[in-house]
Amino acid sequence: MPDIMDSIQQKTIECLDKGHVTLIDVMPRIVPEGKTADYAIVQAARVSYGDGTKTVNEDRGLIRYLLRHSHTTPIEMIEFKFALKMPIFVCRQWARHRMSSTNEISARYSILKDEFYLPDANELRKQSSVNKQGSDGIVNDITASYCAKKIEEDSEITYSFYEYMVKGEIAREQARMVLPLNIYTEFYWKIDLHNLLHFLALRCDKHAQKEIRVFADAILCLLKQVVPITIEAWEDYHPMRGAMKLTRLEVETIKKFMTENGWQSPAPAIDSDNKREQAEWLEKAALLGIKYD
Ligand SMILES: Cc1cc2nc3c(=O)[nH]c(=O)nc-3n(C[C@H](O)[C@H](O)[C@H](O)COP(=O)(O)OP(=O)(O)OC[C@H]3O[C@@H](n4cnc5c(N)ncnc54)[C@H](O)[C@@H]3O)c2cc1C
Repeated sequence: MPDIMDSIQQKTIECLDKGHVTLIDVMPRIVPEGKTADYAIVQAARVSYGDGTKTVNEDRGLIRYLLRHSHTTPIEMIEFKFALKMPIFVCRQWARHRMSSTNEISARYSILKDEFYLPDANELRKQSSVNKQGSDGIVNDITASYCAKKIEEDSEITYSFYEYMVKGEIAREQARMVLPLNIYTEFYWKIDLHNLLHFLALRCDKHAQKEIRVFADAILCLLKQVVPITIEAWEDYHPMRGAMKLTRLEVETIKKFMTENGWQSPAPAIDSDNKREQAEWLEKAALLGIKYD
């Protein structure tokens, strides 16, 4: 049976100026001929839903059903291990995702390398005036050039002082305290697919900081090779991707609008050959005041 890792074309994606995401391992590694790692989801789900037929199309239908209805435990059956290299200020956001396992390089044990995230002047963004937690627009050329150069100079100066302390036999665990947040760190990260999709929904979103989004987008890109059916379903159904969640107030407003303006034709079909999905849509259409026969 084929090894999933052999079929992956690209395992590393470079991120920012010196970082990367590397796919180290996947569970399941071994899958039946012609299947992707998505297979582990249907294999687990069929324990509860019965064996039945197993064409690729039916596997796809089952995965799509599970994602649509938040039956999440079969999705936890797939696991990923990544090697990541990113600035500490990005890693600090990353570490908030608790449903994962991390092993980071020890700056008590090792001397950190002279590697800093040094953005180009045109990568420095302006503070957003509407979102206190965000950035928006570009900074004027003179300020941006000065700041980009100063980030580089200050990083070098700080690193020299760190080296000075290490050479002076000050413990590495203390010497590191002067290093800035743009220094790179490296860690291994293991996470199951359910929690990884949750992570990606939050960190590929436009509200996430651009520097973490770059890494999340790289992981999404790698995942498309490993679990293409699940990613397709996630893009279709997740409310932070192609789908949308409506509040009760919004549903009532649409329903009122539809009733008052008289939607006369039956609800049009959605673009799916799955009968159950069509039926689910018609139920929702009815809730929104769209008639159907
Ligand atoms: C755009 C953005 C802005 C943010 N801004 C800030 C900020 O300003 N300050 C800040 O501190 N954080 C901030 N965060 C971090 C955020 O609050 C979450 O800590 C982070 O996104 C991890 O999400 P999570 O807890 O759902 O993920 P995980 O920790 O991976 O957990 C996954 C899920 O497991 C469950 N879970 C895990 N642990 C527990 C637990 N102990 N108890 C109950 N359920 C649990 C929850 O259902 C949780 O959703 C921000 C995140 C984003 C995406």
